[in-house]
Amino acid sequence: MTPDATGRNSDTSNSDTAPLSLSPELLEAVRRIAGTEQLLVAMDFDGTMAPLVDHAADARALPRSAAAFAELTGLPRTTTALISGRALDSLRAVASPPEHTLLIGSHGAEVWMGPGSSELMLDDAQRKLLAEVRKELEGIVEQAPGTLLEDKPAGVVLHTRLAADDVAEDAVAAARAVLQDRSGVFLKTGNRVLETSVVHASKGEGIAFLRQATGATAVAFAGDDTTDEDALASLIPGDLGVKVGLDFTRAEFRIESPVHVCELLEALLRERKRAVGA
Ligand SMILES: [Mg+2]
Repeated sequence: MTPDATGRNSDTSNSDTAPLSLSPELLEAVRRIAGTEQLLVAMDFDGTMAPLVDHAADARALPRSAAAFAELTGLPRTTTALISGRALDSLRAVASPPEHTLLIGSHGAEVWMGPGSSELMLDDAQRKLLAEVRKELEGIVEQAPGTLLEDKPAGVVLHTRLAADDVAEDAVAAARAVLQDRSGVFLKTGNRVLETSVVHASKGEGIAFLRQATGATAVAFAGDDTTDEDALASLIPGDLGVKVGLDFTRAEFRIESPVHVCELLEALLRERKRAVGA
């Protein structure tokens, strides 16, 4: 079977190959967490719900993941959240999240807890600093073909995915050299991106905030990137942390790709429905 662009199997007539499957240990952990009183399902988006793509605006959740996630959102005693490095506007545009899904953007610097929830506000010093950071990065991007900048409410992102490897490395090194010791500027290295922010935030703080705000008795989280390690590190006994991909991780469980995230969410949905009597 060959996964097509949406991750679904394009050749459904071929039943020779074994179906994708989660390890028995992971399935057991899914069963365990599904029985918790108040469940928070917090998912990274790019590289987790959605396959990685060259153009960020093209990212879409795999249909099976989106469907399972939406159904989880409607279950009793269950809250869903997306926790992303994207700015909230960008996250909404690509994820089309269910109405009641909570959103954390910009690695925790932006939070949406429903209609009327407060927006991110920068003070004058932060706005001035952000303009300085952008100017430094503009100079670097001009010298580095294939790199580009993305503006976020609290930062500027240097993207290098479309640049040659050596150009990408030099650009990130140059940006680090001018920005890493600047007071009030926070840097994060991701998958072919360097994130700058004038607000200190992390996905770990995002998870902690959501846990408290929703009264969650257990948190299920999956993510693929280095910044997701902050979220994984914030998990406590009884939670479920899943790394997507083959890089180093502190997660207890690992799956290979967004296609396996479909299976994870479908298993969680199945078990949670049983637990809440839906
Ligand atoms: Mg990701």
